[in-house]
Amino acid sequence: MRDYPIPNVQIPTQVPIALHGFTEFFKGFEKIPAVRSIFGDNTEKVLGSLRVEFFSSKFGYMGVSDEDGHLIVSAYYLREGETVSKYLDIIHELVHVRQFGEGKPLFDENYEYHNRPSELEAYRLAIGEGRRLGMSDRELFEYLKVDWMSEEEVRKLARNVGVKTPSKRAQERVR
Ligand SMILES: [Zn+2]
Repeated sequence: MRDYPIPNVQIPTQVPIALHGFTEFFKGFEKIPAVRSIFGDNTEKVLGSLRVEFFSSKFGYMGVSDEDGHLIVSAYYLREGETVSKYLDIIHELVHVRQFGEGKPLFDENYEYHNRPSELEAYRLAIGEGRRLGMSDRELFEYLKVDWMSEEEVRKLARNVGVKTPSKRAQERVR
């Protein structure tokens, strides 16, 4: 790049990121059968060493670092999000924690989000847990909606993970 006349300022290239123990903040997940199905006998060990980073942006919900596999969670989402969504999201992200531990790519750009194998595995487990709680296809479809996916992509994702999609006309009536 060209040499620009940047003023004499300092910008760090390495900054501290605050990491906390997952189990300091998220309690009881080691007892959930869906979580045990992810990690098996290693459940306590994995959750016990899992680190979590909180961030304060309004945008985004939760994710897993593809550098070291720690959990990244929006403090805003924890404050404002629906409990059932947060619960299912944590189960979803824990699938990514295991995938990362297995060396699988979390963000395989050869696939769109709604077709990506790592996402479908995570969504299938979360959706299964939602069904166990008694959520209907309609409610699960609502759960799948996030602001970065178009309506059409949400429908494709829903079909990929076995959630019935509401008819477009029925949806208009609800709105
Ligand atoms: Zn995911």
